[in-house]
Amino acid sequence: THFGFQSVPLGEKQGKVNEVFRSVASRYDIMNDLMSAGLHRLWKDALVSTLRPPRDRPFRHLDVAGGTGDVAFRILDESGPQTRVTVLDINGEMLKVGAERAGHRYEGRIDFVEANAEELPLESKTYDAYTIAFGIRNVPRIDAALREAHRVLKPGGRFLCLEFSKVDVPVLDKIYDAYSFNVIPKLGGMVTGDAESYQYLVESIRRFPTPAAFARMIEEAGFKRVTHRTLTAGVVAIHSGWKI
Ligand code: SAM
Repeated sequence: THFGFQSVPLGEKQGKVNEVFRSVASRYDIMNDLMSAGLHRLWKDALVSTLRPPRDRPFRHLDVAGGTGDVAFRILDESGPQTRVTVLDINGEMLKVGAERAGHRYEGRIDFVEANAEELPLESKTYDAYTIAFGIRNVPRIDAALREAHRVLKPGGRFLCLEFSKVDVPVLDKIYDAYSFNVIPKLGGMVTGDAESYQYLVESIRRFPTPAAFARMIEEAGFKRVTHRTLTAGVVAIHSGWKI
């Protein structure tokens, strides 16, 4: 099956991405659990334990492409009362689900901003840390998003990215391919009525740069001490960089 996303010009890519997430917003969380067999929870836990947000001092955190709030809630749960998290996403529908899920639990400690990762409406040198989970591969101009991440971080601030990567274990990679190309769009179609959106997600994973190439892009945006590690046989990778 080919839905033509491959040939979408850069300028139109964001429109496609917005359609995808507007269409799946209300079913997004259940789909994550279904498609990853709950693994996305462990990957997000791993991201937050890599960050180790402080319990005893003020901490300003920005979670970009934050969607329905999974990463933000974890950071708030794992840190102290002086942590404030901004959840930023280009899609108001996803943020609405996030705000509903948050309820009054994090009042005064969380805010939601509808904006583009490529052009953050935020002041420079404001945040102690920046995370982006399963978001960067949807952004048309990744270099612009990385430059913006670097700009809004304070010196000493940390950048962390969780993203799908490339399975690096023989045989498993074939099984993973079969699963992603055959099962995911069907499952997505059954649960959300929108197989095409899930076909897009699978294709976007395939087109994303290798972990080493992505690490170089992070360095090009100005980050130092850039490292990465893969989890679950390479299904996902966590990249880390510091603004010095
Ligand atoms: N971080 C959440 C999580 O891990 O559950 C949501 C990830 S979801 C797969 C991708 C999110 O990226 C969507 O909510 C989408 O609206 C958002 N997104 C796509 N393009 C964006 C952009 N240019 N700027 C900000 N957010 C964007």
